[in-house]
Amino acid sequence: MSFWEGRATARVATAGLTAGLLVLAGLALWSSVSAQATTAHVRQINDSSERWSRVMQHINISDNALRDLQVARTPQTIDPLRNSIGSARGDLEWLRASGQPDDITEATRLLPLYDQTADMLRKVVAGGDTLQAGQANLAHSSLRRQIASTLSSKRLEVTEYLRAADERNSQLRVAQIIAFVLDAFLVALFGMVLLGHRRKILRQAAKNEHEAHHDALTGLANRTLLARRMETAVAKACKKNEPLALLIVDLDRFKEVNDSLGHHSGDLLLRQVANRLSWAVRDTDLVARLGGDEFAVLLPGVGSADNARMVAEKILSALAMPVTLEGLELEIAGSVGVALCPADSIDGHELLRHADIAMYAAKREKSGVAVYDARLHERGASQLTAVTELRHAIDRGELFLHYQPKALANTGAVCGVEALARWQHPTRGLVRPDEFIPIAEENGLIEPLTRYVIDAALRQCRAWSDAGWEVPVSVNVGAACLLHTEFPGDVADLIKRHGLPARLLTLEITESAIISDPDRAVDVLRGLTELGVRLSIDDFGTGYSSISYLRSMRVHEMKLDRSFVTHMCTDAGDSAIVHALVALARNFGLQAVAEGVEDQDTWTALAEAGCDVVQGYFLSEPLPAEEIVAWLGDRAAAHA
Ligand code: C2E
Ligand code: CA
Ligand code: CA
Repeated sequence: MSFWEGRATARVATAGLTAGLLVLAGLALWSSVSAQATTAHVRQINDSSERWSRVMQHINISDNALRDLQVARTPQTIDPLRNSIGSARGDLEWLRASGQPDDITEATRLLPLYDQTADMLRKVVAGGDTLQAGQANLAHSSLRRQIASTLSSKRLEVTEYLRAADERNSQLRVAQIIAFVLDAFLVALFGMVLLGHRRKILRQAAKNEHEAHHDALTGLANRTLLARRMETAVAKACKKNEPLALLIVDLDRFKEVNDSLGHHSGDLLLRQVANRLSWAVRDTDLVARLGGDEFAVLLPGVGSADNARMVAEKILSALAMPVTLEGLELEIAGSVGVALCPADSIDGHELLRHADIAMYAAKREKSGVAVYDARLHERGASQLTAVTELRHAIDRGELFLHYQPKALANTGAVCGVEALARWQHPTRGLVRPDEFIPIAEENGLIEPLTRYVIDAALRQCRAWSDAGWEVPVSVNVGAACLLHTEFPGDVADLIKRHGLPARLLTLEITESAIISDPDRAVDVLRGLTELGVRLSIDDFGTGYSSISYLRSMRVHEMKLDRSFVTHMCTDAGDSAIVHALVALARNFGLQAVAEGVEDQDTWTALAEAGCDVVQGYFLSEPLPAEEIVAWLGDRAAAHA
């Protein structure tokens, strides 16, 4: 914020300008009042002077008439003198009553002399007394002298007064000029402040506009801006017959990064992805973030589906470069759905939906890119109904379990089974867990599903136990369950309901579940260990987690992921990983369980590496519950 936009500057400028204008107005008022007072005063002096002049005139007339009479006493000289007697009295009385203080004094003093002179003149008119005439002459000249002196002092007073008024006026003018200059400066200051504020308002408006149309985390366009741009782009595409494409990009396994490394890392990753997307396309294309790890790219004038697919591939290879987060190097991948206008739709919203459907198809089929067509739409719709159907399947008990045996690596003795969920769909037939577990996880169904599986597995375990077989069961636990503090209580209820020792139940958890909220997960895991339930870390080595939590967590078992195990005899890298993981398990006092064992060599290699337990197609595929007893019987017999 600059000086001109400061609140204090604005306040000072406003207050200054107000004060300045008030001073200027005050000075103007003062100057007008003072001019008026000057005029009034001068007029007053002039009035008196005029009266004195008239008095003087009357006396002169009288005196002239007297002199004429003294020369020749005729009716022509007597009449004027008679008429002139007392003619100045009115003015003298006015001066005594309404004149200024000095007029009053002077008039009061002169009136008796004037009256005496009038008496003398009357006597002169009546009798022709020459002595009286001479005295009247003297009185006249005395009166005239005094009045002349009054008049000249009046003139002097006016001159003095006007000089003082002039001086005052010039002072006032200087003050006015100063106030004017000051005001002009304040007006300029105020103008600068106004301009500053205008700039600030414009900037704020631009900022608001930007915020309303951009994603705060990545700075990319948001849904609103995308919709707006799409509207014009679609209209142009239709008018000029230049097909445009809309791409939806969704990261694979983003949730896992967020859960294992925390939201801060998730945010960093999203920013990097945003940058890569922006670099991968032209300036005229628009990259937007729709929310979460979902992005959209608008390609105006792309021309054809092939071109759009090429851009999508370019985006995927830009994403494929490894990202370093918190010192870990991660590989990120994404799925891109493509929809074209006008081929797929000329409606922006529908185009977005179609690109979304294509993106889900790309994710499902792990194909990277998928271009929309109507068949995908049907499949997309079926994904939606799958959620409802899965919910019903859990409620109505349409899920059932297969059990895959596990054996001790050195002796081959069976030491338990892993319960694996299956879904017998009324029309689609048998659905694999890889298809419905992600749906359950994404739609809040994993907790009821896990409870359902634990319940069914324990019921089966109880049935085997009643038939004389003690078979420990392992159940896979959805990550979300470990974030629910009621989960240990639920498990305790189920164990109690089936009347089994807790040690017969092993819960297989994944690393990401622990890392997403370690404090809460540790609480839940502690609650479970206190029940006496065994804990196993599933798919060990595939997550993004650190192994430091192994120290603080009381787990019993480490399950080496089948991606390292199955080919360990032919792949030196896998073999090294398996050896390292087994050693790690031993050091932490954990039982090492290898899954995905498909042949004898692998089994032998695992036994030699010190692995405790093996599981895999070589021992047995997952079997329906009723086949397990027969299998166990055969195996026991063979063993014996
Ligand atoms: P998982 O926990 O790693 O389960 C082992 C999977 O490996 C099972 O697949 C099993 O059939 C398969 N498998 C067993 N032996 C071999 C072998 O020798 N070679 C190969 N290639 N595969 C073998 P399935 O039953 O399709 O389950 C897939 C995944 O679905 C499971 O992986 C587990 O993550 C999840 N899942 C299954 N049932 C449940 C469940 O009840 N709850 C939860 N939360 N997840 C489940
Ligand atoms: Ca498992
Ligand atoms: Ca596994």
